Amino acid sequence: MSGTERPATSRAEEQDGLYERLVAFEGRSAATAGTGKDPVNLPMIRHWCEAMGDTHPAYRGPDAVAPPTMLQAWTMGGLSGHTDRSSAYEELFALLDGAGYTSVVATDCEQEYLRPLRPGDEIGFDTVIESVSERKTTKLGTGHFVTTRTDVRAGGELAGTHRFRILKYAPAARPDRKPAARTAEPEARSGPRSGAADARPEPKPAPRRPRPVVNRDNAGFWEGVAAHRLLIQRCGDCAALRLPWLPGCAGCGSREWDTVEASGAGTVFSYVVMHHPPFPAFDPPYAVGLIELAEGVRMISNVVGVPYDKVRIGMPVRLEFLRVDEELELPVFRAGGED
Ligand SMILES: [Zn+2]
Repeated sequence: MSGTERPATSRAEEQDGLYERLVAFEGRSAATAGTGKDPVNLPMIRHWCEAMGDTHPAYRGPDAVAPPTMLQAWTMGGLSGHTDRSSAYEELFALLDGAGYTSVVATDCEQEYLRPLRPGDEIGFDTVIESVSERKTTKLGTGHFVTTRTDVRAGGELAGTHRFRILKYAPAARPDRKPAARTAEPEARSGPRSGAADARPEPKPAPRRPRPVVNRDNAGFWEGVAAHRLLIQRCGDCAALRLPWLPGCAGCGSREWDTVEASGAGTVFSYVVMHHPPFPAFDPPYAVGLIELAEGVRMISNVVGVPYDKVRIGMPVRLEFLRVDEELELPVFRAGGED
């Protein structure tokens, strides 16, 4: 234990001494003098780049280096594992399991890079249990964060550090679901569902639809949706249209782009009818269409205004915006498009 003062833990843990026993694992080794199963090599680099879609030229050719984010990959034991593990990590897990923190979730990882790894580098590593947090309560439940630090060496020289953090926790009781705003329009469109719900004495609030992942690459698309405009990206160099949004052109690689607004006309290019699994916010069976817009790009969305078993390939559809709840609006396609 270092000179920094530790925050107070709960009375119960002070009484049973659990936290003191957990903290005693800090600094203990989880793997000593581990060795990579393969030296840094081009085939693994190529597979990684293909899986990631990373075409950076630095990872190819006679002067290739390994992508820095592969750091951990060179230390992985694979299915057969490593034999040079200490028992400390397992003992720590057993202690947490015994205290009721039986669930585990990986929460985050941090890496630092000191020098590039090159094909032929022989990898060595040491892993230490760096810290065990005081007891924390998260949305998942109450437990302790455990951080391990792996120092990765190439030819004996420190090449990078990989910190991996997990939460060992006792799952919280499932919270009640948040009610969705019950706006009249989408409910009326979904037909029998609202009627059936209203017939019950106390209908359960409908679970919310999953939120779209909005990031810096696609934020403009969702800003367009909020303004009731379906925006298609157009390459600034070769003018190819693309949807969904991407940071670069798949045709020419250009990062320049602007947008064109979709006219809203389209046809059903293909579709599936979802029966199973019944996802809480949805009401199967329902049709999910791959819609070909008049501009030539395709997008996946719901086909509305027609029973699920009447959706057909080639059916004309027209864009409209469906307000799902107070936060979420989605572009959907109404059958019978040209009216
Ligand atoms: Zn292009």
